[in-house]
Amino acid sequence: MKIGVDIGGSHIAVGIIDENDNLIEQKQKDLTLDEKCKVSDILKNILIQMIEKILCEKNIEKKQIKKIGIAVPGRVDKYGNIYTVNLNLKNYPLKAEIEEYFKIPVQVRNDAKCASLAEKKYGNMQKYKDAVFLCLGTGIGSSVFIKNEMLSSNISEAFEIGHMIIKKDGIRCNCGKNGCFEKYAAMSVFKNNVEKLFNLKETSGEEILKIILKENKNETLQKIIDEYIDNLAIGIINMIEIFEPEAICIGGSFVYFKEIFLNKLEEKINKYPHFNPKVPEIVLAKMGNNAGIIGAVLE
Ligand SMILES: [Zn+2]
Repeated sequence: MKIGVDIGGSHIAVGIIDENDNLIEQKQKDLTLDEKCKVSDILKNILIQMIEKILCEKNIEKKQIKKIGIAVPGRVDKYGNIYTVNLNLKNYPLKAEIEEYFKIPVQVRNDAKCASLAEKKYGNMQKYKDAVFLCLGTGIGSSVFIKNEMLSSNISEAFEIGHMIIKKDGIRCNCGKNGCFEKYAAMSVFKNNVEKLFNLKETSGEEILKIILKENKNETLQKIIDEYIDNLAIGIINMIEIFEPEAICIGGSFVYFKEIFLNKLEEKINKYPHFNPKVPEIVLAKMGNNAGIIGAVLE
């Protein structure tokens, strides 16, 4: 058995995963604002408590656990130190801390990379050897598979496509650069623009979708949609030129808006000239919310 953990910007989920990578039990906890602000030791303690609790409730001994896999938002170096702006952590040695406590091997990875591994092994990327994964949500998480291997550098997991610059002197990103892809093509950007147009605040994805379907004659709204797709297509075209993937797999809350975006995105991508005569397929992720927790324990 393995333990999978998914640390989000506002919650932590811990699950028990069996030999066949099935999630057999899961517990979630929301992080309070206070916990999010001074998070390093608190994060470690919450994690330890949650893992202890789930093991105790299911009557599982620590020696039955082969591995703990942790998915985190942000960057992870090859030693399992994490750097995440959302949780206010800089080079925090999460792998070392949790390994020291449980004496079980710990693997720490970026959450989108975990989701992509689950999608590659069990989801809609299975049949492609070369594929790019983009998770469009609050930001843009990403990974690249070439010849079935997820690429990484000698320093960290790398391949942070969301922080590729697509506009000179563009919008300031919290990575410190201006004009990053995620400042134009993350789902949060689209959602904020729709909220601004209709004077809304903190609207759910479901409500946004309803508004878009109802207001389908609204020209400003159509412009927002077109601009979003234009920016997303620019990033994807760059990825196609660099990696020549067989598929681009898109996950995150984008999947929820597929009826509005998908055809337009495919049309846009097809209009660009391509060196490769076979334009990659655009596929949607199917593993959903548990992709991170399951992907966290995969090799
Ligand atoms: Zn950036």
